[in-house]
Amino acid sequence: MRSNFLLGRVKGIEIGVHYSWLIIAVLIVLSLASYFRETHVEWGGTVIWLMAVAAALLFFVSIIVHELSHALVAMQSGLPVSSITLFALGGVAQIEKEADNARTEFWLGIIGPITSALIGAFCLATAVIAGWEFGGTPETPLIAILVWLGGINIGLAIFNMVPGFPMDGGRVMKAVIWRLTGNESRAKRWASIIGQMIAVGFIVLGLLAFFSGAGFGGLWIAFIGWFLLNSARASYVQSDMADRLRNVFVRDLMSRDCASVDIRTNLQGLVDEEMLRTGQRCFIVTDGTGPVGLITPNEVRGVERPMWPMKTAADVMRPFETLHTTTPERPALEALEIMGREDVNQLPVISNGDLLGMISRDRIIRYLVTKQELNI
Ligand SMILES: [Zn+2]
Repeated sequence: MRSNFLLGRVKGIEIGVHYSWLIIAVLIVLSLASYFRETHVEWGGTVIWLMAVAAALLFFVSIIVHELSHALVAMQSGLPVSSITLFALGGVAQIEKEADNARTEFWLGIIGPITSALIGAFCLATAVIAGWEFGGTPETPLIAILVWLGGINIGLAIFNMVPGFPMDGGRVMKAVIWRLTGNESRAKRWASIIGQMIAVGFIVLGLLAFFSGAGFGGLWIAFIGWFLLNSARASYVQSDMADRLRNVFVRDLMSRDCASVDIRTNLQGLVDEEMLRTGQRCFIVTDGTGPVGLITPNEVRGVERPMWPMKTAADVMRPFETLHTTTPERPALEALEIMGREDVNQLPVISNGDLLGMISRDRIIRYLVTKQELNI
């Protein structure tokens, strides 16, 4: 999930919003406005709309704080965090590495629900101090906002403790099984299997509710279930892949005989003579001194076809300094994760400043497929 709008940075972490959040933000404001109108129509339109927008914004802030809590625990455990993105179904903190022990995994998961529960308790306590009678109808707009925020944050804490991936509770459960069995991949598998069962439960319940007249709410629950099912399944596939790529390193799968082209090569010539004829999809661009960039069909596509005869490799290449690279000693799984995250199909393999070769997504996937065919 990538952000479409960047809001800012906290401790080097990009905080952004995905398009889908905007739709949800509108829905939240609309439903909040109708909720406040039902309880206190006498507050009048302007106050009610302002309240709805303020409550939605504060909810948005509390989700960011929830994700930041994950991010801070990750960073304290030496796991880098690149971004936090808000999207239709909540937030995600992009943690760049997996925890290497059960204790870190446990804290990484549980801190989210703890944070949401604390925010919720703080809002409700403030409402009580401001004169709210616990469980009663809020008397003032401020108390109404606090009570709603308190409830929704506590709801968020409970929902996130559901013990299956991709919820925080999935991490917590994985950590517990990991600690008990000492087997990380088994723990991860269980967390994703239970996540899938819960997701199917959501879909079934949502559809039942829909057909018994719950309307949009039922469909929404089914939709959340569908999303959870996809994420849980993805984490299952990932744990399977992690198993198969255990002890496989970049050096085992990299190609060392990269085709290279001179920086002055004409683009039309490169397509006709090299790309189409040899079937190679990735070319290292060299000048007199050494490798300086990379050209793949992706870069070629970026130039309009009539312009190809007028351009050279230098015009279209991705310069090395803008590329993510890896080293021969790194795990192949990590290279695959970088390619997925950066949306590229290959990474240059560099050692002591020298280009040793390339590792491609294709190559890693072919390795996985072969292993599967051989049942090993
Ligand atoms: Zn969380």
